[in-house]
Amino acid sequence: MIVKTDAVVLKVQKYLESSAIITLYTRGFGKMSVIAKGARRRQSTLASALGAMNHIGVLVYKKDGRELQTLSQVDLQNPWRLLAAEMDRMAAGMTMVELVNVATHADERHEALYDLLLSSLEYVDIATNPPKNALYYFEMQLLDRLGFKPALSRCVKCSMDPLERMTERSLPMRGSILHDGILCPPCATQGIGGPELSGESLQVLRRLQDLRTPESAERIVLSAVAHAEVTSALRWLLRHHVLGSKVLKTETVFSSLSKQ
Ligand SMILES: [Zn+2]
Repeated sequence: MIVKTDAVVLKVQKYLESSAIITLYTRGFGKMSVIAKGARRRQSTLASALGAMNHIGVLVYKKDGRELQTLSQVDLQNPWRLLAAEMDRMAAGMTMVELVNVATHADERHEALYDLLLSSLEYVDIATNPPKNALYYFEMQLLDRLGFKPALSRCVKCSMDPLERMTERSLPMRGSILHDGILCPPCATQGIGGPELSGESLQVLRRLQDLRTPESAERIVLSAVAHAEVTSALRWLLRHHVLGSKVLKTETVFSSLSKQ
């Protein structure tokens, strides 16, 4: 059967002398691996369209039950302007595609997840400044769309509003994040939670859950402490639900580049 769908390229691997195995996240069929014959020949029009993060339209010979499908035709949909040209943007975009790759299984269609990935890449490509918060937005919404949305309005242990204790001026206290929600400061002292969170960071996490576009996340102003806490809370949740003991390759590569 020949199928047509649009897709984001998650990963490109060399295969034999001139071909490539491409992992796609497709709108119509979820994650799909395809073989692109001759993709690495010099004049191949396939080669330029099949870079990681690219948004493409594809025609695929698809046989049910087969692990590797055959790519027949590719059209580049919107060539990126800045996404693949600037390191900060590329680091954010490559983290997004790698997270979708590790978080999904083949042949599970999930249009809401596809839309999240595509709209986030589109935003990172055109944002005026290299976006920081767009990746937080993506990670929080990814947890939500995979069914792991943490409950942040009540303490998961005592059901109190954790923000009240965390923002008391005379007594600023930190709660902590848990797999499925938040612990208020007194409950967090029992040592069962993950990374600590201030009231400011909790409010940021709540807003990230409610927003509907990556652009709107960019308007949130965070202190340096909140940046660090939000980063580690989201990573802790992703590690628990999605990554297991895996380390993101993208992060290893880009953190070593930025130290050079
Ligand atoms: Zn509590």
